[in-house]
Amino acid sequence: MKNQSRRDFLKITTISATALVGASATKLFASGNPTSSIDPMGVLVDTTVCIGCRKCEWACKKAHNIDTKPIEDYDNRSAFENYRRPDHTSLTVVNEFRNPTAESKPYDVKVQCMHCNEPACVSACIVGAMTKQENGSVIWDTDKCIGCRFCMVACPFQIPTFEYHKALQPDITKCDFCFERTKEALLPACVEICPVEAVTYGKRSELLKLAKKRINLYPERYKEHILGEHEVGGTSWMYLAGMDFDKLKFPKLSTKAAPGVSEAIQHGIFSYFVPPASLFALLGGIMWLNKNKSKSEPDTE
Ligand code: SF4
Ligand code: SF4
Ligand code: SF4
Repeated sequence: MKNQSRRDFLKITTISATALVGASATKLFASGNPTSSIDPMGVLVDTTVCIGCRKCEWACKKAHNIDTKPIEDYDNRSAFENYRRPDHTSLTVVNEFRNPTAESKPYDVKVQCMHCNEPACVSACIVGAMTKQENGSVIWDTDKCIGCRFCMVACPFQIPTFEYHKALQPDITKCDFCFERTKEALLPACVEICPVEAVTYGKRSELLKLAKKRINLYPERYKEHILGEHEVGGTSWMYLAGMDFDKLKFPKLSTKAAPGVSEAIQHGIFSYFVPPASLFALLGGIMWLNKNKSKSEPDTE
């Protein structure tokens, strides 16, 4: 691999998660059974370790066949000039934040779907296109999706996006936790490539232990808060940081699972507009017509 020497260099010179806990954390739990609904798999993102190299963005695109530039182009830090959100061009993005009260390095924060334990997007989807898998992944079925966009409204982290350039035939896009890779016992692409082990894949319960261990060992380094431990009923992806999470542009959320809220939205929409069956039939009909039309026409995009 072309960037091997840079990667080795970074591994030696950067404070890594390994140095913090005295063990190779990233792959520590990867061999465990990945299909336990009681203890799903997850990822711990340590924003104090991340160096903002954005290799995870590149690897994610490559794993999902999204057009991508050469990996060397991701060294360009001008990407941090504007705050970015994941979309159909990048299922994960890294943003950089400076801590105005400390001389510490900036915090680089990778953003993607949190794979909630009780996902609002799944609850809001009226056709069952979004599903929570036993290993913790929240994935979707493009063929079932009718483009109603309730999942977008319901998500407390504002993650699902649609390909708006295909307004009548949109595909939902979001991180799928590399479902196709993990079911083959491979690491998520972003975890595999991270040169400093800022992202650790494993059983959620073990990741929580690891996060608490780091906070206890280095209280000056971390806020005593694991984002995702309790928020919206808990999430598979969790974060550590040295700053308050709202300063890193995470929403302040209660511990209450979000599906109740989304169900209320969904039922509210139905009671004020059209009956569910009619709306379902209309959206489903439009999607069916467009999907069949596109199959019979050459792709012009
Ligand atoms: S973060 Fe949003 S899209 Fe991801 S599982 Fe939770 S509700 Fe669904
Ligand atoms: S888990 Fe897979 S889909 Fe999600 S951000 Fe990482 S590489 Fe992308
Ligand atoms: S998570 Fe890892 S690969 Fe992604 S930007 Fe941070 S250090 Fe680089």
